[in-house]
Amino acid sequence: MGRLFGTNGVRGIANKELTIELVTRLAASCGHILGRDIALGRDGRVTSPMFRDAAASGLMSAGCNVNDLDVLPTPALQYAVKHLGLDGGLMITASHNPPEFNGVKVMASDGVEIPRNVEDEIEGIYFSGGPKLAEWDKVGTLRHREAIDLYVEEIISRSEVGVIKGKRLKVAIDPGNGVGTLAAPTIAQRLGCEVYTVNSELDGRFPGRESEPRPDNLGALRELVKATGADMGVAFDGDADRSIFLNELGEPLWGDRSFALVAKYYMEKHRGARVVTPVSSSNAIVDVVEAAGGSIHWTRVGSVDVSRAMVENGIEFGGEENGGVMYGPHHPVRDGSMTMALVLGIMAGEGKSLSQLVAELPTYAQAKDRVRCPNELKQKVLEALRTKVAAPRVDTMDGIKLIFGDGSWILVRPSGTEPIFRLYAEADSQSKVDRLVSENKMLIEATVKSLSA
Ligand code: MG
Repeated sequence: MGRLFGTNGVRGIANKELTIELVTRLAASCGHILGRDIALGRDGRVTSPMFRDAAASGLMSAGCNVNDLDVLPTPALQYAVKHLGLDGGLMITASHNPPEFNGVKVMASDGVEIPRNVEDEIEGIYFSGGPKLAEWDKVGTLRHREAIDLYVEEIISRSEVGVIKGKRLKVAIDPGNGVGTLAAPTIAQRLGCEVYTVNSELDGRFPGRESEPRPDNLGALRELVKATGADMGVAFDGDADRSIFLNELGEPLWGDRSFALVAKYYMEKHRGARVVTPVSSSNAIVDVVEAAGGSIHWTRVGSVDVSRAMVENGIEFGGEENGGVMYGPHHPVRDGSMTMALVLGIMAGEGKSLSQLVAELPTYAQAKDRVRCPNELKQKVLEALRTKVAAPRVDTMDGIKLIFGDGSWILVRPSGTEPIFRLYAEADSQSKVDRLVSENKMLIEATVKSLSA
């Protein structure tokens, strides 16, 4: 049996790896498992209308009623599934991937991405040729429904509206020509902010910048922050479930810094709470959670794993090092606009600049690297590494994580999409973290070599 689902839904190059035949049968298989009333949305990609229509056809052929929400952020579709009491949802999006890609994210009736075992069930039906098609008079219906206004109202209701309005903050927003443009500027305006935008035309060719916001491609936003004297800048990925922030000096914050900031202030209001995060997250998260008497619930890497762990364990807050924050009182899913509203609430409540707030967080030296390894050897290499490495604590939840007595750690993880191992490491000094990476990189390279021979 093949595998359709990756770390976050089904992805591929449009009309090459991802075809309308695939999407039609996938949607029919999803509908068969999820239930009768399904939300369907899409991002602003060039190929998204084509795949939206394929998915609608597949769903109706399996007897599902399609609630077409048209173009909207992924978290807006997720909220609509829950709020409208639907049986599930399909979002046509390739998130932050380049414009030639597209994909499908699948939500359960709670609006959260389906768990891994349901992905397996759907794949089982897909690879057996798809579900039994409905009789002609049992084919599903299609109706258009509005969802963005509901979503905007919900985020406003979860925000510190009064406090934020009192500060008249200036916000520079870069949706990266993605669907964030349909919600984030409105939300910031409704919170009383003075809003400036760049790359705010919805355009599936992503002419402004790559769809993945990274510190090195946010030059236009940095210039906007400086030119307008904005208190902060915020950039969204293609489907607006993740946001990356710039401080008032135009300096970018890595995703784990904004996550740690929101976690710190969440913990001040929820002392002793548990927080969900993957094993790749920074010790800064551990520090701010434990300082407030809380504890970490660790998961494998992937937003689905974090969201599902929140739901299953009744935990209200979670996040990832890439800037994905899950605020459970709103919805236990990544949400770029909700994160923006939470950061605005912290800035307004504390009366401090974003650079000051971030300077108050614990800081660690970090390093990331990669080692090439053929996919078919990855499991063998991991098994061999387990017998070779030594550390006071060895965690094998996702790859191998070595945790040392001084708190420094390194995680070696097989990529789900590329023939590489990803290395993440953290320590209290740059020399220590660099040594940790170079020593382990050599060990992995030697292991790959010996097993390839
Ligand atoms: Mg995304």
